[in-house]
Amino acid sequence: MSVRVRYAPSPTGLQHIGGVRTALFNYFFAKSQGGDFILRIEDTDRERYSDESLQDLYDTFSWLGIEWDEGPDKGGEYGPYVQSERFDMYREYADKLIAEGKAYKCYCTPERLEALRTEQQKDKKAHQGYDRHCRDLTPEQQAEYEKQGIKPVVRFKIPLDGKTVFHDVLLGDVKRKNSDISPDPVLLKSDGFPTYHLANIIDDHHMNITHIMRAQEWLPSGPLHILLYQAFEWDPPTYCHLPMVMGKDGQKLSKRHGSTSLRDFIAKGYLPEAIINYISLIGWAYDDSREFFDKADLEKLFVLEKLNKAPGVFDYKKLDWFNGQYIRKLSDEELKAKIIPYLQDSGNVDNPPSEAQDAMLNGLIPIVKERLKLLSDIVPMTAFLFSDISGYPAEDLIPKKKDAASTLEILKLGRPLIEKMAELGPDGEAQDEALEAAFKALSEESGFKLGELLSPLRVAVTGSRVSPPLFASIRLLGLKTALERIDEAVKKLE
Ligand code: GLU
Ligand code: ZN
Repeated sequence: MSVRVRYAPSPTGLQHIGGVRTALFNYFFAKSQGGDFILRIEDTDRERYSDESLQDLYDTFSWLGIEWDEGPDKGGEYGPYVQSERFDMYREYADKLIAEGKAYKCYCTPERLEALRTEQQKDKKAHQGYDRHCRDLTPEQQAEYEKQGIKPVVRFKIPLDGKTVFHDVLLGDVKRKNSDISPDPVLLKSDGFPTYHLANIIDDHHMNITHIMRAQEWLPSGPLHILLYQAFEWDPPTYCHLPMVMGKDGQKLSKRHGSTSLRDFIAKGYLPEAIINYISLIGWAYDDSREFFDKADLEKLFVLEKLNKAPGVFDYKKLDWFNGQYIRKLSDEELKAKIIPYLQDSGNVDNPPSEAQDAMLNGLIPIVKERLKLLSDIVPMTAFLFSDISGYPAEDLIPKKKDAASTLEILKLGRPLIEKMAELGPDGEAQDEALEAAFKALSEESGFKLGELLSPLRVAVTGSRVSPPLFASIRLLGLKTALERIDEAVKKLE
């Protein structure tokens, strides 16, 4: 039987990095096995449903370049792929379970259930959860409730004794005493809508899903799902609950740790290649050393045997490092196309860029490529080219362990070398080398370290202690402006 796996998000929020990893693992597993990857929308929770999150799902996966073989937008022979379009089927199956004595109608009002909860909270030792009040109603009692017009929910009969066991590819045998499973979960709500459990099981069965790969937080639902498969007399799929995604502090990854929605990562200027590569390594490793994988590699190499049991840690710094690596792999043209939108958003570059801006961009790419971690870094990194920088504090000019007087001296020593940079050689590397030699000579002569000579000039020209290479920055800015800025710095110190 060929592998069929699914990603089954509920459109109730933006695509979370953990969900994206679940999708990627399913996708890569399907591809490595020559199987199919299916998208199914689990929109049974109509209160939390939002169009925006559905759109976000499509946008983010198209950005990643991940395509499903079957799904709402693609079609396929097992559709519809949206649960709200399959409601009739769920009701029929709930009725079937009732007819077979495996499920029952519960007429308890929300008020009764609330009172029950309050009661149970007072007495911690008491049995928690639904008290099976309606499990064995007589037909007369049922008729009485019906007469009162109460709309029932349908509950599943969890066996009162025995245990449920299932095998998880990663975790081994998972056992649960049936008496420990929360009693008699709702399958169908009073408005006729199915709950997650019912719809999920029915769809996985009817869509011929062979493997369930999902986050470990769904593990507690496993025994109930197995009991449902047994009740329907269907073979359950193979289970593989994926290792958790944690923050560095060992807590479940959340907003406290940083961005968690893929949309945020996209806005900050991560590349899809970096996201795919890094995320695939959370809880999975090909071997002890290899770090770089592109989509095509993973489509071949991803196997379940190499999943980790232990939770994976989401390391933002490592992701940034990967992103920098992938930025360096872009051609100058590709990088230019990717950074232009950021510069346009910040108002620094016109849409489309003017001729002068275009020339500036061409000069910019080679000097920033080695330094960018995120595409959005381009804005602060090049702000000095586009806007007034004079607002920096005078102290920033002063190198460590120096004072204002010696910094003034430094600026006055350095300025003439900058002023005649054009005489030292043609724009580019040759000029850089000549300038470096000149500054080294100045360092020996003056007793100031090379860094001490360059740092105040860097702050004077760019307004910041970190910038692209100084001499190239001056060429891009224009010598005249650079010298004016050095003079302003001198005034600031005086
Ligand atoms: N709709 C569920 C979710 O949002 C699917 C869980 C599962 O894969 O069974 O995560
Ligand atoms: Zn009841």
